[in-house]
Amino acid sequence: MPQYLVERDASRCIRCLVCVRQCPYEATFYDAQTNEVTNRHQNCVMCRRCEAMCPTNCIQIRQFGSGFRANEHWKEKHIRGIYKQADTGGVLLTGSGNDQYYNTYFDRMVIDASQVTNPSIDPLREPMELRTFIGRKPERYDPAKGGNGQAKEYPNIACDLPIIFAPMSFGSISYNLQHGLAIAAGKLGTYFNTGEGGLHPNFHQYSKRAIVQVASGRFGVSAEYLRSAAAAEIKIGQGAKPGIGGHLPGEKVTAEISRTRMIPEGSDAISPAPQHDIYSIEDLRLLIYAIKEATEYTIPVSVKIAAVHNVAAIASGIVRAGADIVVVDGFRGGTGAAPAIIRDHVGIPVEVALAAVDQRLRDEGIRHCASIIGAGGFRSSADIVKAIALGADAVYIGTAVLLSVGCTLCQQCHRGKCSWGITTNRADLLPRLPADVAAERVMNLLHAWSHEIKEMLGLMGLNSLESLRGNRLKLRAVGMTDEEARILGIKHAGEA
Ligand code: SF4
Ligand code: SF4
Ligand code: SF4
Repeated sequence: MPQYLVERDASRCIRCLVCVRQCPYEATFYDAQTNEVTNRHQNCVMCRRCEAMCPTNCIQIRQFGSGFRANEHWKEKHIRGIYKQADTGGVLLTGSGNDQYYNTYFDRMVIDASQVTNPSIDPLREPMELRTFIGRKPERYDPAKGGNGQAKEYPNIACDLPIIFAPMSFGSISYNLQHGLAIAAGKLGTYFNTGEGGLHPNFHQYSKRAIVQVASGRFGVSAEYLRSAAAAEIKIGQGAKPGIGGHLPGEKVTAEISRTRMIPEGSDAISPAPQHDIYSIEDLRLLIYAIKEATEYTIPVSVKIAAVHNVAAIASGIVRAGADIVVVDGFRGGTGAAPAIIRDHVGIPVEVALAAVDQRLRDEGIRHCASIIGAGGFRSSADIVKAIALGADAVYIGTAVLLSVGCTLCQQCHRGKCSWGITTNRADLLPRLPADVAAERVMNLLHAWSHEIKEMLGLMGLNSLESLRGNRLKLRAVGMTDEEARILGIKHAGEA
């Protein structure tokens, strides 16, 4: 039984076959016998490419049929999942982020504003500082310890805005999109993250804007790869699939990707769940310092973990192991491919993880030893402002990037057929998203968000991000339990 229905108004269809050429899922085709454009409804994934491209607006995609009899326990998703697994015997793979209903704490926090007693600041008339430095900060100078007052400095990366492009590997996304992100990162004064796919030789010119990942598969990792980058990141976990490794299906491993990752063409790129040389914080420390040695202590080293129950204790261990940056990836984070059951049921929200990690590092007096980057489902500049008030130094955005270049969240990224040319490297689909178009759209989004962040800082009476970081007094809970507000470290609305 199809899930979606492809409806075409025959009276307006001019049989131009645009929809046939645009649909990589072969859900529409031309029937020469009847001279009609017709459909294979069961193939449709509701990517909506045909709707957007039809010159006469005569095609529409709808949910098929009346659905299943209403049942609060057995939802359509469960029923369809069982049907599919009974057909195939396989794990259900999916792309993009967790789409289940869980509380989104961002939607139950509101931001403070200045009124009378502490005047707001107009960002159009007064300077507003969004620049943030990511990495370990110097120790506070203690005259009692002697010395010349010169604190030791550590390598930092300077971000002109607190938004960095999330790890998205060449392979999981298209060559053109990664190229676009590299261009945009340079122009915006921020960074892109290679994910675990290595750095394509053509992108070495952008390496000073790249955070390069070292993941469990060690795809594409070399001394040159590390030395050329702005920062290196050890990937322990991913918010969309905590506890399991990366997965790039073989059909997405083209010749170019095989060269960049140093793996055979067409083979599944499955990274192991753990890093096989890391079974303790001491092991992690060895790898952190191996990377620092390889890069002669010139770049910060980050460690990225999925947000899980004991995230604060783990983050503390990571900082004590010598990491300069801790990335906490919440369960709303996107993925190129993951088992749906894991994506939808494992991990915790980034909001609570950030609050817990920031508080723990402050309580232990080691907050200055590492920056915190939050990741996992930031949808707007307001989410980012709230994350910074909860303790983040900056955030990674991934799904928002995909949406800005046309993604319709059809969740088919793992199939390598993205009709919008975003998460595919198929030669016929790649030109649908040129690198310059991607760069321009992403820059537009970040320009808009930067303006909004400045407006929000100004209305709080703040003129720099520095003053907002971990400033939870600027947040209030609406409709949360006392326990939830306590974990987030914020007061209820109405409390002074
Ligand atoms: S794109 Fe529109 S007009 Fe062209 S064949 Fe398809 S439905 Fe008809
Ligand atoms: S282009 Fe997308 S929405 Fe249109 S028929 Fe094909 S799969 Fe369905
Ligand atoms: S990137 Fe492409 S395949 Fe993935 S959810 Fe978006 S539109 Fe669908």
